[in-house]
Amino acid sequence: MVSALDAWWDAAASAPVQQAMAEMVAEGEQAVRARRPLCLANGNCCNFERFGHALWLTGLETAWCLRQLPTMPTTDQVEAAMRRGDCPFLQGGSCGVHWARPLGCRAYFCDGEGDGWQEALLESWHGRVRTLHESLALPYRYDEWRRLLRDFAAGRVG
Ligand code: SF4
Repeated sequence: MVSALDAWWDAAASAPVQQAMAEMVAEGEQAVRARRPLCLANGNCCNFERFGHALWLTGLETAWCLRQLPTMPTTDQVEAAMRRGDCPFLQGGSCGVHWARPLGCRAYFCDGEGDGWQEALLESWHGRVRTLHESLALPYRYDEWRRLLRDFAAGRVG
């Protein structure tokens, strides 16, 4: 029987997922260009507990992120980040996997100037990723980033 981790991992390389994710990434880039939100580049959005922020996404999207990385984070690295309260990919004040970051990281800014565009975009993306899960008959799991990363690391997918 194929595990959920394997199903997400395999599907993340499929043409429908690659195309849909590329479209959403492009939408995010366009929205940021149009809105010009202020990024203080202080890593606040990646220090989840300290900033009172949580990053949630699906198993499929997590696999899509991880597939773009040369190596998977280890369980120890993810658990150390959980203890610190930050993201295992945070390096100094910057994202160490900028090209592969989740959609939620692409539309989250802490400049306080949001007029709802970030929430609307994130909601739209979440619906589309959920539809991908359904159309590809994939197990659906919507969970916190580091819990998903830890399961992928422990499952040794890839
Ligand atoms: S993936 Fe990058 S941008 Fe997203 S929370 Fe982690 S360090 Fe921050």
